[in-house]
Amino acid sequence: MTPYEKLLLENKAWAKEKTHEDPEFFNRLSAIQTPDFLWIGCSDSRVPADKITGTQPGEIFVHRNIANMVVHTDVNLLSVLDYAVNYLMVKHVIVCGHYGCGGIKAAMSNQDFKPVLNMWLRNIKDVYHIYQKELNDIKDEESRTDRLVELNVIEQVTHLAQTSIIQRAWKTKNGPYLHGWVYGLKDGILKPVLEMPPGSMIDPLYVYEDL
Ligand SMILES: [Zn+2]
Repeated sequence: MTPYEKLLLENKAWAKEKTHEDPEFFNRLSAIQTPDFLWIGCSDSRVPADKITGTQPGEIFVHRNIANMVVHTDVNLLSVLDYAVNYLMVKHVIVCGHYGCGGIKAAMSNQDFKPVLNMWLRNIKDVYHIYQKELNDIKDEESRTDRLVELNVIEQVTHLAQTSIIQRAWKTKNGPYLHGWVYGLKDGILKPVLEMPPGSMIDPLYVYEDL
């Protein structure tokens, strides 16, 4: 059996088990999805949103990219955010990074990863640039990487608050809450590093007044 055939076989077993546990499971899910959470996480295969939070299909709306970035020109991310906030009415948006992130490590190196990856990693280098004083003082490389992982999550949550999508929702719906978490690959624990309730203060430069 090839590896991909194993996936298809596992899927059959999973569907059978779910139906056995709850005969209405798929009927219910196929009719409607009402997740309370939008998860913006890293594409890393070791950080599956549902597994590490013990949630079921239908409970978390997910967007993943390299190093869980919120880039203001990323139409993919912004479409997911718009849909989650304005149509699914999620109550919480979680940006989740993880210690030992390969994307963060790559951005801290001086290696040329060629145009497309260089473009993406540039967004992380810009975060390093903001905090370079604090980061350069951390001599241990692993600790410095892990601190950038935390700072990057904080920065990406801030980027969310800077979008008109979130600011309009805060004004009209008093939601969603924004959260920044970091997942530990070594212990499986999620560590909150930032929480921004609706109406949190943001840099006046990014405030839209005529929403
Ligand atoms: Zn990662």
